[in-house]
Amino acid sequence: AKEDGRDRFCFFEPAMDARMKERHRLERDLRRALADGQFLLNHQPIVAVASGALVGFEALLRWRHPERGMVSPADFIPMAEETGLIVPIGRWVLERACEDAARWGNGLKVAVNVSPKQLADRDFPLAVERALSLSGLAPNLLELEITENALMADVEGAMSMMLRLKSLGCCIAMDDFGTGYSSLGYLRTFPFDKVKIDRSFVQDLASARESGAIVRAVTGLCGSLGITSTAEGVETKEQLALLQAEGCDQAQGYLFGRPAPVEDLPALFARFGLR
Ligand code: C2E
Ligand code: CA
Ligand code: CA
Ligand code: CA
Repeated sequence: AKEDGRDRFCFFEPAMDARMKERHRLERDLRRALADGQFLLNHQPIVAVASGALVGFEALLRWRHPERGMVSPADFIPMAEETGLIVPIGRWVLERACEDAARWGNGLKVAVNVSPKQLADRDFPLAVERALSLSGLAPNLLELEITENALMADVEGAMSMMLRLKSLGCCIAMDDFGTGYSSLGYLRTFPFDKVKIDRSFVQDLASARESGAIVRAVTGLCGSLGITSTAEGVETKEQLALLQAEGCDQAQGYLFGRPAPVEDLPALFARFGLR
């Protein structure tokens, strides 16, 4: 077979072209999605490990695409981030989540994911204030989840942003703890209220000694720093028992409930003995 560069170029070009077209289509569809009301939120319960009480929910974005059906956030958040569309989409998420939580009216918290682009947006605190005042939700019931890659690019900017958000009365959680390069360093630098231990550590809690040791160290550290520890992706009773033994404060995962549409929440409240 001929192996010259031109042949290879010809071979790859149609594939690249198809990918570009696909990206353009996704961007166009995303722009339309917000205007057409194709987004919705699902809420996943978060419980206190010691008492088993329901303490709040994480709001997770869903896209009901007219032709493709439910599209996972993993498949569109990166494009939304790249195009900056995450800023208006994120504002919608904030307003919807606060509205939902205010309507529950039972003092449960709602956690909202904040992307790096949003955190870098000077107007983000205004969007948070607006969501709080429109809904009437108590600020301490809103929790903002940020990942450490949102802090890396501009540490000082991120710090002043976090202080502004905290001055509004919201709580701030570090999401996916342990997956980045300097989770511990950021814990020292930034005023986090909560740490969400990444699902990967919880997954092999029962089988790998290392994960147990890491979870124990993180919950211990959180305890002495006055930070709430939350384990993500708890799927089994065995994992829950181990988390309890390690002194982890809160847990979230399929064991307690999958992310569910708002209509399903009253049944869930009842299951936890709430009105
Ligand atoms: P995340 O913030 O780490 O959210 C937790 C993800 O783990 C969710 O996936 C949830 O459905 C899933 N999960 C929860 N419990 C379990 C479990 O027990 N086992 C397993 N295997 N998975 C579990 P989801 O809803 O597909 O969201 C994926 C990611 O998309 C989120 O990860 C978050 O980074 C991002 N995302 C979702 N909603 C938003 C949003 O409104 N804004 C932004 N910027 N990102 C969002
Ligand atoms: Ca999250
Ligand atoms: Ca997470
Ligand atoms: Ca994640």
